[in-house]
Amino acid sequence: MLNLKFGLRVERGGNCVTCTVVVGAQFGDEGKGRIVDYLAAQANMVVRFQGGNNAGHTVMNQLGTFRLHLVPSGIFYPKVKCVLGAGMVVDPTSLIEEISSLETAGVSTNNLWIDRRAHIVWPYHRLLDGASEAKGELGTTKRGIGPVYGDKASYRGIRMSDLLHSGFLKERLARVLPIKNHEMAYYGLQPFKLEDLLTQAGEWRERLERRIIDSLPIIQQAEARGQRILLEGQLGAMRDLNWGIYPFSTASSPTAGGACEGAGIPPQKITNVIGIVKAYTTAVGGGPFPTELLDKDGRRLQQVGDEYGATTKRPRRCGWLDTVILRYAAALNGFTGIAITKLDVLDSFERAKICTGYTRNGITVNEMPDTVDLGEVKPVYEQWDGWKEPSTTARRWDDLPPNAQAYLRRVESLVNVPIRYISVGPQRENLIAM
Ligand code: GDP
Repeated sequence: MLNLKFGLRVERGGNCVTCTVVVGAQFGDEGKGRIVDYLAAQANMVVRFQGGNNAGHTVMNQLGTFRLHLVPSGIFYPKVKCVLGAGMVVDPTSLIEEISSLETAGVSTNNLWIDRRAHIVWPYHRLLDGASEAKGELGTTKRGIGPVYGDKASYRGIRMSDLLHSGFLKERLARVLPIKNHEMAYYGLQPFKLEDLLTQAGEWRERLERRIIDSLPIIQQAEARGQRILLEGQLGAMRDLNWGIYPFSTASSPTAGGACEGAGIPPQKITNVIGIVKAYTTAVGGGPFPTELLDKDGRRLQQVGDEYGATTKRPRRCGWLDTVILRYAAALNGFTGIAITKLDVLDSFERAKICTGYTRNGITVNEMPDTVDLGEVKPVYEQWDGWKEPSTTARRWDDLPPNAQAYLRRVESLVNVPIRYISVGPQRENLIAM
């Protein structure tokens, strides 16, 4: 039963459960970290459910500016339990560095846990990713994510829990390593020695052992107590392994379905699915991007929006907002609301365009085309007058310039999902909650 006043689902027995999924509605980098940081103030738990350190969530708050790669964006609230979920792949070296830099900045990480089922990114995964990227140019981040998920699916993966069982770990590595070294040789890379990897694993164990847990009972306990759980995705719908622009996709599912799977939450427990939508579109790496702008408007979006990757520093490709992609993402995820981010980046534009559909060879395209065909569509645009005044100070809908309101209302009607949040700057307070 829905309690409309509070937007909460009231379960039989009276418990209020809100389990909110936050996912990217485009190609990633929409500003999920910023929205999770805002929503986490009211949460009891934040679980990252997929991916690894191949994307970065930037969070700005009173403690500073942080680029999180693995740690959930709820970490800035000491009472919020933060979990690296079972669906994640964890590079322990990168995680240890991230924990150290957070602690150096005065952020406690005592509330950080890693599900024992998460898979380990080994140094050979990173090297193999880099070597295959050099040949294939799919635009991966070379963090080993594709190779580690590949090993997971072919039963050659090694999990965080294996760090706690040295005999088993040695056996597993001894079995897997000859195959990995064979692949390394294919790319002309030096083989790894078993003893070196075991020494490395020992160092990881020492630093991370106390954080490796079974997260399921904790999540179930939170559900039973009616606590608020946030499920934080990485990347966006267009990079989903099944539904994205394969092979320019990631190796996991950054969708609401993936959230249930990766965090261990049954689908019927999900009460809200918030799609994060940048007010324009950006993409890093290869693949089709129908509204990409290679002109001065594209360069301006890049400069004003500071569109450089948080993990790789790669310049992001920029273009106008594409509502075909947003409708597709809404259908896939079942968005109950959307958050529009970086509206302020459009403040100085004389006009802004919205892509409402595509044509291919002069014929209207109604469904999301396959990867190759998506590269051949032409966007159909509507042009909207800019507002030419700052939106950054707006804290309520009524504070927004009328042309910005008109732009947002049009987006809302094209996507057919209510706007729940509007972000008008990177700081915590630059936000309008509807
Ligand atoms: P994520 O991976 O989806 O969390 O996104 P990123 O962190 O890669 O990219 C979002 C970037 O935009 C970060 O640098 C944020 O600080 C910044 N950002 C988020 N929301 C806003 C906003 O409303 N306005 C501006 N100007 N910057 C924002």
